[in-house]
Amino acid sequence: MQSWTRRKFLVATPGLLALGPLIPSTFGATSHTVRRGDTLSEIAVRYGTTVNDIKRSNGLKSDLIKVGQKLNIPQTEAELDTFKKEFSKYRINRSKWKYIVTHHSAIKNGNAKIYDKNHRRRGMQNGLAYHFVIGNGIDSGDGQIEIGSRWKNQLDGGHVRSSHVNQHGVGICLIGNFQETRPTTKQIASFSALVDLIGNYHLGGNFKYTAHKEVDKNHTVCPGRYFPLKSMHERFG
Ligand SMILES: [Zn+2]
Repeated sequence: MQSWTRRKFLVATPGLLALGPLIPSTFGATSHTVRRGDTLSEIAVRYGTTVNDIKRSNGLKSDLIKVGQKLNIPQTEAELDTFKKEFSKYRINRSKWKYIVTHHSAIKNGNAKIYDKNHRRRGMQNGLAYHFVIGNGIDSGDGQIEIGSRWKNQLDGGHVRSSHVNQHGVGICLIGNFQETRPTTKQIASFSALVDLIGNYHLGGNFKYTAHKEVDKNHTVCPGRYFPLKSMHERFG
């Protein structure tokens, strides 16, 4: 298993070198070209920012936007410095990942370490079932992205029923119960930036953006009714 993984990494290396840094300097900042039906508040949800920040960053005096107008989406202010340093340490097996799957933790407390312990107790020998965990400010920073050992070692996830999707899906869990409360703006900013980084930058857009309840139909409400799934599909397809 180890040698197979190593070989895959070596094959992937030339592509990585051609791609440039593992985290582009634009991480967390982007631009958006206004489409028919877009509103500033909907765009703010999609990128995890606020209407005021978009207006300030584009010098807008009113909420009026025009189709075709290019808006600067300001960089997220979430605690991403540690993430950036850590993420760059690990190679990515780009041929493995085909899905990015959204989850909520369904409880308001926790962080990667706590969930890792729980998952091991439940018999998962690789621990934390997700590849990434995004904090809500209770047991880790608000918007902090923690990297799980399954991402560090490019291992299958254990976050859905489908073994195909566990094998090829990057599992991202936002902490919180989004049947009851909304994710924080910083959580969404980090989430949206992370999907963009992995899916668009590293996988070149060759991925399917999805959520747990769309994979395991009729078995779960995850990531909850208050997760802005429609907005994320607007952004990532
Ligand atoms: Zn889930």
